[in-house]
Amino acid sequence: MVSEPNLKELDPEVYGAIKAELQREQRSLVMIASENYASRAVIDAQANVMTNKYAEGYPGARYYGGCESVDKVERLAIDRVKRLFGAEYANVQPHSGSQANMAAYLALLTPGDTIMGMDLSHGGHLTHGSSANFSGKFFKPIFYGLDKKSQLIDYGNVKRLAQEFRPRIIVAGASAYPRRIDFSAFADIADECGAFLMVDMAHIAGLVAAGLHPSPVGNAHVITSTTHKTLRGPRGGFILSSEKFGDKLDKAVFPGTQGGPLMHVIAAKAVAFGEALDPSFVDYQKQVLINAGVLAEELVGYGFTLISGGTDNHLVLMDLTEKGITGLEAERLLGNAGIVTNKNSIPFDRRGPKVTSGLRLGTPALTTRGMKEPEMKEISRLVRDLLEHPEDAQVLKRTQGMVSELCTSFPIYD
Ligand SMILES: *Cc1c(COP(=O)(O)O)cnc(C)c1O
Repeated sequence: MVSEPNLKELDPEVYGAIKAELQREQRSLVMIASENYASRAVIDAQANVMTNKYAEGYPGARYYGGCESVDKVERLAIDRVKRLFGAEYANVQPHSGSQANMAAYLALLTPGDTIMGMDLSHGGHLTHGSSANFSGKFFKPIFYGLDKKSQLIDYGNVKRLAQEFRPRIIVAGASAYPRRIDFSAFADIADECGAFLMVDMAHIAGLVAAGLHPSPVGNAHVITSTTHKTLRGPRGGFILSSEKFGDKLDKAVFPGTQGGPLMHVIAAKAVAFGEALDPSFVDYQKQVLINAGVLAEELVGYGFTLISGGTDNHLVLMDLTEKGITGLEAERLLGNAGIVTNKNSIPFDRRGPKVTSGLRLGTPALTTRGMKEPEMKEISRLVRDLLEHPEDAQVLKRTQGMVSELCTSFPIYD
């Protein structure tokens, strides 16, 4: 956007690190369920002079002059995301998913209020009441979890806890839950105990946008999300709601929890929302689901245990307990071969969060590269080989070769 960028000469150290990251992304199989490859248009839109602009406030009502152009992109982003999800109100300023959650709490709660969210070790997020996070320090957290046997959200338990502890807000949404979430069941429970329902759809926003996961719009009082996971936009967050809560939410984002919005990122959000409105986005999300389904089926076929036995969404959560291997080890073994995943706690995990007994695998990024069912089958085989022959140099070498071939056949950012 500003003549020829020559970072290479101006700052070779930073340039070198960025180049190396590009090559890492090109040469590995990204299976971290919360990651994706944003389009070139999204990345271009983000690298622009709007990073220079202070725009505290909202379009048409800023605290600084010179906001004509940034007003235009913010209005575009708002209009597009409202259209995408069929929402009455949107705020596109949250810097991240965590910031969106902080603003939502600030709008609806008073410090000391009781909040109820999913247990982190059962798939919830830090911002849903963890003691290590502001949400667990400023509010009184209550946690629900999965049923031990079905490994699905135990809605009976959610209801009992809600009636006993009367939370001011119930948070539905997860970072490592492979099944559909019943937002209308949550809405009924929240109604019965007079709580707000907040849906944090950070992981599944792309699926919701494509109509492939039931939408929280109409069920939740407030909806928060990231833009960079299945939605495939720039790193960031947003909030949806009805007009009724709009004023409170706007104030909770700015001046409540943030200063100047990242206008260059908002420009990129507008581009990403535009991409998600295109019919091809639905095809992409359909393939994300098909790919995750194949991955689950193959891994189960190879004798691996999956939490809840399979998946309805973009991720699978492997339970490695019976394989005698930790999540940490599994992450390292796959990583050595160029398959990037993350260790993940499983419900009732006997190991701590730095080791864990689980591994989370997602298909959004591989699907963006154009991979389909045959590749998922091949990758499942590679995962099996690596986990079943942990110290076999031959297997490692062969797998590295196959990962490299896959990456060459499905190029990204050519
Ligand atoms: C990823 C995630 C977030 C936080 O997003 P950041 O942008 O990393 O702050 C919040 N909630 C859930 C459920 C998530 O999965």
